[in-house]
Amino acid sequence: MKSSVKESVLNIDNLVKSYGSVKALDGVSFQVRAGEFLALLGPNGAGKTTLFQLLTGLFVADEGKILVMGQDIRHNVVNVLAKIGVVFQQPTLDLDLTVRANLNFHARLHGMRGSKARQRISEELERLGILDSADQVCRSLSGGNRRKVELARALLHEPRILLMDEATVGLDPASRRMLVDYVYELCVTRDLAVVWTTHLVDETERARQVVVLHKGHVLARGTPAELLAHTGEKNMTDAFLSLTGNSSGESEINIQQVK
Ligand code: ATP
Repeated sequence: MKSSVKESVLNIDNLVKSYGSVKALDGVSFQVRAGEFLALLGPNGAGKTTLFQLLTGLFVADEGKILVMGQDIRHNVVNVLAKIGVVFQQPTLDLDLTVRANLNFHARLHGMRGSKARQRISEELERLGILDSADQVCRSLSGGNRRKVELARALLHEPRILLMDEATVGLDPASRRMLVDYVYELCVTRDLAVVWTTHLVDETERARQVVVLHKGHVLARGTPAELLAHTGEKNMTDAFLSLTGNSSGESEINIQQVK
């Protein structure tokens, strides 16, 4: 019988990154498999943005490794970035350009032109239900639809890994629900590996893996059920608060690995 355990597409091994005397990441390790939704949960200052900056090649780690499908980002940054799609915490659309022009720019960056680019742009916009808005300037779109455009852009070059950095911040509840559901579905329909950073605990409840990051350390890692069992709490909010010491960031915490 064929094994159901899928390949690990992202391997993060013992990452360390400091800003002067502040250790933003201090020995962070985890793996994500194809089709897996990994929620990276952490209070403000946990190190989530720093981790994304390393994963997207903006900064280089002081120590440790990032392997994407076996390739080390340090030595193959162009190949690695071709396999990654990103939605950043801060909006990055050019609001004075149309949706299609924004996506075209990204398509060209990834070597897609002409009919291929047009086809991919239409496919992604249609799946997200915003093909009708393709020729509108982004400034005229709602916050939820702007985020959809950013997601369409992240998926345009058919990445194997999708990084979502607090992507639901500022969205109304309906748009937030839509985005979370859509991305969970992408894991199944496209076998995408997703890393979803958030401090909103409810977004992690269906995750295959939850990594709790606090002050640059991985405090716990496992399925939501394993985190509940480990902390003895009844819901993920209480489990998170119990692990992070009420999220004040002041309390002393033992590093624990659930799995
Ligand atoms: P938030 O949810 O508030 O964005 P975060 O989990 O993304 O937080 P980071 O922004 O990665 O956390 O910050 C981790 C630590 O590194 C914090 O203590 C932060 O103050 C510090 N830090 C981040 N960027 C810099 C920088 N450029 N220079 C100095 N310190 C920094």
